[in-house]
Amino acid sequence: MKNLRAMTLKELQGLVKGLGEKPYRAIQIYKWLWQKGSDDIESFSDLPKRFRIELAQYFEAKGLLEKERLYSEDGSVKFIFGLHDGLEVESVYIPDRNRKTVCVSTQVGCPIGCEICATGKLLRYRRNLKFWEIAEQVLRIGKALGVRITNVVYMGMGEPFLNYDEVIKSIELINNDHTLKIGARKITVSTVGIIPKIYELAEYPRQVKLAISLHTAIQSKREQIIPIARRFPLDELREAVGAYYRSKRRFVTFEYVLIPGFNDTDEDIEALRKFIGNLPSKVNIIPFNPFPGAEFRAPTDREIYRFYEKMMLLPYTITLRKSKGRDVKAACGQLALLRQSNPHKIELHLSDNRHELR
Ligand code: SAH
Ligand code: SF4
Repeated sequence: MKNLRAMTLKELQGLVKGLGEKPYRAIQIYKWLWQKGSDDIESFSDLPKRFRIELAQYFEAKGLLEKERLYSEDGSVKFIFGLHDGLEVESVYIPDRNRKTVCVSTQVGCPIGCEICATGKLLRYRRNLKFWEIAEQVLRIGKALGVRITNVVYMGMGEPFLNYDEVIKSIELINNDHTLKIGARKITVSTVGIIPKIYELAEYPRQVKLAISLHTAIQSKREQIIPIARRFPLDELREAVGAYYRSKRRFVTFEYVLIPGFNDTDEDIEALRKFIGNLPSKVNIIPFNPFPGAEFRAPTDREIYRFYEKMMLLPYTITLRKSKGRDVKAACGQLALLRQSNPHKIELHLSDNRHELR
């Protein structure tokens, strides 16, 4: 059976036409799927009964299956979703005043394998997600929690720019007026720096935000933690980001995972200043979140604030990400952990982390 959810609006319109139905039926179906979130074709009550029966003969409307939900003390909620082939992905809901953000995964595992990342280090890469599997994470979480999602960040498991076409299709879907209506300006795609795709995003007509996982502006150091850094060197990365800015006129965010003893010296800050130059940017400092087998440790609060204070002297907007969802391993780079351990171990992680946070 084919899944209606795997069809774009254009394809649905073609299908409806082919079955000899009125064109507006396609929009009705689309709304049932992507606004109301119904999995059951029988429930599409504004379609004629005989059309519903005909559709249900050849199609299903199954979405992702919610497998687990973990509430964090800071309000973020982590979800594990089952895909139709039995694999799983994780997504996180992050509320922050009026902003209700969902962080989506784009791949099962990640083939890049950065040293700092649990997804890259602990999980085997399995496959790219389809556009609708990415959009489903946003839809399901909004429904499950009864909230209207306002922002989406492509910062979960996987490298979005290794799955560029499906990522763009998923943006088109969640942005559509008949679905979730999430404004392009409220959508951020984070990449480790796949340069050709940065140029493509620069040409993409919607005002999607770009975040670059930089972590260090020193080429030799970057190669130590990001395996593809050699193929996509810093000088070329900087040019690509400049092209994105010229095309969109939107601030670029550089993510800087703070690793004590690795990228936190005055020399590192100076390299960063030289790298960014006069490009209007934000730098988001993310304290490294350790995982079993990680090469690095977490910075202490003192190390975080000392670094932050020094960074504040740079002529860019500097933000410090409080590690949301740490107690349920929902923070970035931690999404791979839960499935690695058995339920008893999860309990252990939980108490470990509370202790660490105190
Ligand atoms: N593949 C994309 C998007 C997913 S990772 C990318 O790398 O940009 C989202 C962010 O979480 C990245 O900035 C990544 O570097 C960061 N991250 C990964 N592991 C982390 C960890 N252990 N602690 C803190 N941040 C981490
Ligand atoms: Fe992949 Fe991003 Fe993790 Fe690197 S940080 S392994 S690119 S998900």
